[in-house]
Amino acid sequence: MHTKVFRITDPLVAVTELREAAAVLRKGGLVVFPTETVYGLGGNGLSADAAERIYAAKGRPSNNPLIIHVHHPAEADKYAHTGELYRRLAAAFMPGPLTVVLPKRDLVPYATTGGLDTVAVRCPDHPIAQALLKECDFPVAAPSANLSGKPSPTVAEHVIADLSGRVDVIIDGGESDIGLESTIVKLDRDQNGEYLTLLRPGAITTDALTCVCERVVIAPAVLEQLKDGERPLSPGMMYKHYAPTIPLVLLDGTPEDVLAFLQKEQAEKSCAILCYLEEIPHLKAQNLFPVGEKNDLTTQAHCLFSLLREADKTGSSVMYAHLPPPDGLGLALYNRMIRAAAHTIQKV
Ligand code: AMP
Ligand code: MG
Repeated sequence: MHTKVFRITDPLVAVTELREAAAVLRKGGLVVFPTETVYGLGGNGLSADAAERIYAAKGRPSNNPLIIHVHHPAEADKYAHTGELYRRLAAAFMPGPLTVVLPKRDLVPYATTGGLDTVAVRCPDHPIAQALLKECDFPVAAPSANLSGKPSPTVAEHVIADLSGRVDVIIDGGESDIGLESTIVKLDRDQNGEYLTLLRPGAITTDALTCVCERVVIAPAVLEQLKDGERPLSPGMMYKHYAPTIPLVLLDGTPEDVLAFLQKEQAEKSCAILCYLEEIPHLKAQNLFPVGEKNDLTTQAHCLFSLLREADKTGSSVMYAHLPPPDGLGLALYNRMIRAAAHTIQKV
């Protein structure tokens, strides 16, 4: 398949390209588009065939559900059963990096939802994604636009490396702002009323969610490795994710102890290091990948996936990174990094 690449900086002047991309989606084709979180691999969310094509292009198991993207939060009512809590979340966080899992309506095929009776809905806050979705009279199902098992793409070059020849169109809209996938919550209810289950942490933090809904329960798979045979609440959580080819080890210890450990390792073996900016003067420059300042989690989130891809190209025998603190935006970093490291944490 020939893949067309459209480079778009301003959606207002790229109307022709966006109409062409929407027409490709309408006919059942695949279009990669930029969002504020990561790039998405889009197909018609109401077409079982398009969902199958998405799974095939990514090499992703078809029981791993897709998120459908809409241009306005109110569009969710066409595809899912919403309610008062959904509307409060939408007013606070949409458009933006929040995905809400809701009971699905019949017109959404099971192929899109991985066989579930629920559907995940998101309204992205990116001018190109918004402009594309407005051209579509259907929701766009889109997982991250990487080959299954690779880090999510945050620039078009990553997408081109993974999916060239496997999709119809790639829209290059520059770097993704946030760099980590959306926060996913499920709306739940028990005898004490409504609550949110956090299925995947992201840029909308637990504290921010708590401002809209007092009770936020973190699903066990967010922080821990599930035991054999244990079923995750969110199917995607069972797969090994973002795994670099070089084994990644997360270091847990005081800043001084971690630095001393890294210096010793650099003297003894070839290692790639995702380090803090403050550590640069104390380490050898070779295969060093600065993720940002120690306390700048926003920059770390923005850089993580890109640097994992870069560090993986070094051919080192091991890759080291700091174990992030699991709160605020750190929870999202922690969740992605323990998956990339296949839960390998070394105390130093
Ligand atoms: P991605 O599209 O790569 O960002 O991954 C989407 C993830 O959203 C899946 O792997 C699931 O973990 C989660 N997800 C999507 N739909 C549902 C759903 N209906 N119920 C629970 N989790 C979902
Ligand atoms: Mg993904």
